[in-house]
Amino acid sequence: NTFQDLGLQDNLLQAINDLGFTKPSEVQDKAIPILLQEETDLVALAQTGTGKTAAFGFPMLQKINVNSRTTQGLILSPTRELCLQITNELKLYGKYCKGLNVVAIYGGASITEQAKDVKRGAQIIVATPGRMKDMISRRLVDISKIEYSVLDEADEMLNMGFYEDITSILSHTPEDKSTWLFSATMPKEVATIAKNFMYKPQEITV
Ligand code: AMP
Repeated sequence: NTFQDLGLQDNLLQAINDLGFTKPSEVQDKAIPILLQEETDLVALAQTGTGKTAAFGFPMLQKINVNSRTTQGLILSPTRELCLQITNELKLYGKYCKGLNVVAIYGGASITEQAKDVKRGAQIIVATPGRMKDMISRRLVDISKIEYSVLDEADEMLNMGFYEDITSILSHTPEDKSTWLFSATMPKEVATIAKNFMYKPQEITV
């Protein structure tokens, strides 16, 4: 398969070309067509380094409306480093998505600055759970119109004790959004999240 075969639009194919990605990785090959074609929940068992950021990033970039300033996509990740890494990758992947605004929200940095970034209108927010919960409770961010949510490295987030924060954050999102969960392992805590917060998820393993 080529990236074109997977159904990606020209502005994303152009970015892929600039990045020098010659062909989709396995997780991209499996996840991208599913996420582009259907509004579905997805559980993907995939390690880091497999190209999973692009596996959820490209479909999200293709599906969001960049002409709107509403926050439509929310990605939760366990650490500040990963949060920044995902944000940077999405900016590269979306370099030809005119009007795209991706904002990173994480602890240990100015909440005021992050609130300002959000207020300018972010279609996609990439966040760590603690700071995200904090900003929701201070009403600095509105995730009531989210259409796509990603739980990245779900096993790591649960290991780090973020279960309560995640469930609290998800309770502020619409029931009918799609949820895409990525995890390297499937301990019972991850299965519980999938069972309680997802509807008939499709499953892929790489
Ligand atoms: P990730 O698993 O998302 O952390 O991605 C690992 C690295 O692989 C990142 O630096 C990506 O830029 C890169 N990458 C993702 N997809 C591809 C691809 N199809 N071909 C080559 N490199 C890729």
